Amino acid sequence: MSTVNAIAAPSATEPLVRTTVERRAVGPRDVLIEIRYAGICHSDIHTVRGDWGKVPYPLTVGHEIVGQVTEVGAEVTRHSIGDRVGVGCMVNSCRECDNCKAGEEQYCLKGMVGTYAGTDRDGSVTQGGYSTHIVVDEDFVLRVPEAIAYETAAPLLCAGITTYSPLAHWKAGPGRNVAVVGMGGLGHMAVKIAAAMGAEVTVLSQTLGKKDDGLAFGAAHYYATSDPATFEKLANTFDLIINTVSAPIDMGAYLRLLRLDGTLVAVGAPPEPLPVQVFALFGARRSFAGSSIGGIAETQEMLDFCAEHGISAQVEVISADEVNEAYERVLKSDVRYRFVIDIDTLR
Ligand code: NAP
Ligand code: ZN
Ligand code: ZN
Repeated sequence: MSTVNAIAAPSATEPLVRTTVERRAVGPRDVLIEIRYAGICHSDIHTVRGDWGKVPYPLTVGHEIVGQVTEVGAEVTRHSIGDRVGVGCMVNSCRECDNCKAGEEQYCLKGMVGTYAGTDRDGSVTQGGYSTHIVVDEDFVLRVPEAIAYETAAPLLCAGITTYSPLAHWKAGPGRNVAVVGMGGLGHMAVKIAAAMGAEVTVLSQTLGKKDDGLAFGAAHYYATSDPATFEKLANTFDLIINTVSAPIDMGAYLRLLRLDGTLVAVGAPPEPLPVQVFALFGARRSFAGSSIGGIAETQEMLDFCAEHGISAQVEVISADEVNEAYERVLKSDVRYRFVIDIDTLR
């Protein structure tokens, strides 16, 4: 065991504070990672504020982790000391169920082990990436391509894979009309990835304030959802809509933007239910679906895809002492487009 510096939430209502967490001793199949950067995902905020249910406080969150390997267990074959690596939202799964065998560990039938607030194999609560080091089973550690800088790679480990997976599954590509609702951390990656896949991309944002950025990320069109004319103009337009919004929105209004056989995929995770009027589905044999992160093999595929296409996250690098302020800015949709903590400021 070792004690390492970290930032943790003491409760749902108090600011995050500097503290320490324990990391297990490096086992035969484990990798010790010296963390360099950790992204701030809106899920970190939902979690620490108790939006999604009970939380084992004090809790260190963070599941967009990049750094270098500084120690490997005796049986480790996939990673070596000095490698540039990443860890996303999960650190283990049962590996035996049908979904794990299919490479969809995020849908493990026994429940994947989350990078934070999960139950580790020694029974302890997992603690996430707002810390200087982490020990992870080698099978849940990704290779970060040399072509992507550490700080802009970190958000790929959640925002990148969470949008890549449904875009790949529902076949975003040439000839397909894809809309992205909400252009924050996930949304801006969805725009870049869908455009790199060859789709015609439309951003549906609350205002036109980020239009220039959206077009620079690869969108062909950009509309404000605060303007009711947007919903009239775009009725029956899209093959695929990726909803990244962290709050409830009127699903019926967005479903009606799908053309025949189109699919709206929820990746945004508001705590409240999203009611759906079946008539919005009947109108054009539409589907309403959901998607959770992506498997380990697919996460590696996404990292390699981003390197090949020269894309990564647009980030604002902050120090460990700026995390609480960053949370408030994320909650106000004032993020361009992912906050990333420079973990050197925690050492
Ligand atoms: P984020 O950076 O805060 O982006 C969310 C965006 O949604 C905002 O930038 C804003 O975009 C829009 N938005 C926010 N509040 C809104 C409101 N009241 N009405 C309309 N639009 C609003 O958050 P994120 O990190 O991308 O995460 C987004 C959601 O995905 C969160 O709920 C998170 O928990 C969830 N998530 C799910 C998965 C999964 O596996 N399914 C993985 C990661 C995250 P505009 O300013 O452009 O309107
Ligand atoms: Zn996340
Ligand atoms: Zn499983």
